[in-house]
Amino acid sequence: MRRTLVAGNWKMNGSLSGNAALLGGIKAGIDQAAACDLLVCAPAPYLAQCKSELQGTVVAWGGQDVCEYESGAYTGDVAASMLREFGCGYVIVGHSERRSYQGESNEKVAKKVVQALRHGLTPIICVGETLAERQSSRTDAVVGEQLDVVLQVLGVEDVARIVVAYEPLWAIGTGITATPKMAQIVHEMLRAKIAAKNVDAAQQVRILYGGSMKPDNAEQLLAMPDIDGGLIGGASLKAEDFLAIAHAAQIGKKV
Ligand code: PEP
Repeated sequence: MRRTLVAGNWKMNGSLSGNAALLGGIKAGIDQAAACDLLVCAPAPYLAQCKSELQGTVVAWGGQDVCEYESGAYTGDVAASMLREFGCGYVIVGHSERRSYQGESNEKVAKKVVQALRHGLTPIICVGETLAERQSSRTDAVVGEQLDVVLQVLGVEDVARIVVAYEPLWAIGTGITATPKMAQIVHEMLRAKIAAKNVDAAQQVRILYGGSMKPDNAEQLLAMPDIDGGLIGGASLKAEDFLAIAHAAQIGKKV
């Protein structure tokens, strides 16, 4: 049984005081015996704050990107070892905003995944198609290729250590959500790709849905057999919405 993962992606939002209020609200509302895994992915400067606020709670924290290199002259980048020093358990890799604005290729994303795993971080590998790609029936080809390039560089054992997030670009931050059925079809295809590399790992790897997941649509999405949690942008910035999604995950069939 895969344990549902509810992960917040704060993107480039937050302040010391705002984060304290948000994390305080989450801590106050969360059932410490939460039946799903909870995670917030904060901007790098706030990881120390996440560590001091969340250590000893059921809420994990993680980064939003990682450099593919170990250390050195990579101004502005954050190394996997640094994320580990600040207690991160996870890191988002290949978010569509980085693919679009920073020109991250599938190959670069694959290198980042390897580097995250090398340092004991669980990479949350984002894949997703544009509206034009969906409308021209290229969803499987585009999303499948994004995952394949990563799977090609992973050893068979490492496949079980990843999380995948299907995030259709047309649903991110738009208020438009893929229907549960649309998302399920893509998740099933992604799981089949993982199974082709490692049958056992395919049953363990969590595949999250991301794209305007909110308290009022989370339950239906999370009820799908291959949707194992959510990567949540906007709704993760309000404690009550994040908690409501976590609650929806707990009352769903999978915990
Ligand atoms: C995201 O950016 O990962 C995301 C899913 O954003 P939103 O929930 O705001 O659509």
